[in-house]
Amino acid sequence: LLAAEDLHRAFGPTPALVGASFAVRAGEVVAVMGPSGSGKSTLLHCLAGIVRPDSGRVTYRGADLTAMSDRERSALRRGQFGFVFQFGQLVPELTCLENVALPLRLARVARREAERRATDWLGRLEVAEVAGKRPGEVSGGQGQRVAVARALVTVPRVVFADEPTGALDSLNGERVMSLLTGAARETGAAVVLVTHEARVAAYSDREVVVRDGRTRHLEPAA
Ligand code: ATP
Ligand code: MG
Repeated sequence: LLAAEDLHRAFGPTPALVGASFAVRAGEVVAVMGPSGSGKSTLLHCLAGIVRPDSGRVTYRGADLTAMSDRERSALRRGQFGFVFQFGQLVPELTCLENVALPLRLARVARREAERRATDWLGRLEVAEVAGKRPGEVSGGQGQRVAVARALVTVPRVVFADEPTGALDSLNGERVMSLLTGAARETGAAVVLVTHEARVAAYSDREVVVRDGRTRHLEPAA
């Protein structure tokens, strides 16, 4: 579904990726692991078309992302990809329901329909009770489940999650992971999951380790 070959990317004098490769199939959950500063987030950003690699190719359904215009890439992101980050991703002025409905509103879905689908996703993530609250009024675990609902409300083909449980205790982290991977499996979305934690990576089908900007691919556990 989504693949990258021989990616190189430097930030000034700092090499972040030096020949990284990656592939994820539809419906597959792949964990990207490795030490801090090894290039995990840069790899995720290249795969999602947020950062352009200096060289190498990223293909989504056979189309070369690196050759697309910015406009084509952002249309692809909005239509096909969903994102969950560690924190700070919900709009503080909007209610949780409005946050989840936002990607649909941007896609010109009518308000009532957008709110109906957003309510459905808040329920699936077991946070229906926070619909009318603002992000500042909910717990960290609830906020991340709202963020997952927002990432999934457009039924993306690929969900990119960068340390989605990084700010949570292990119980809340496991809850977010099981709801995220469960919802992804139901909708057939692929998940690219960046994490430090083996416990979080255990929710994946396969692991890719990044070290000094290079990738190593591990066979799925039997
Ligand atoms: P962490 O686990 O701490 O999030 P990471 O594996 O995600 O680390 P990256 O964020 O991909 O690592 O960073 C890889 C390297 O690229 C690091 O040396 C980092 O300092 C550098 N880097 C990343 N983004 C930028 C940027 N926007 N400007 C300058 N340097 C950057
Ligand atoms: Mg990172």
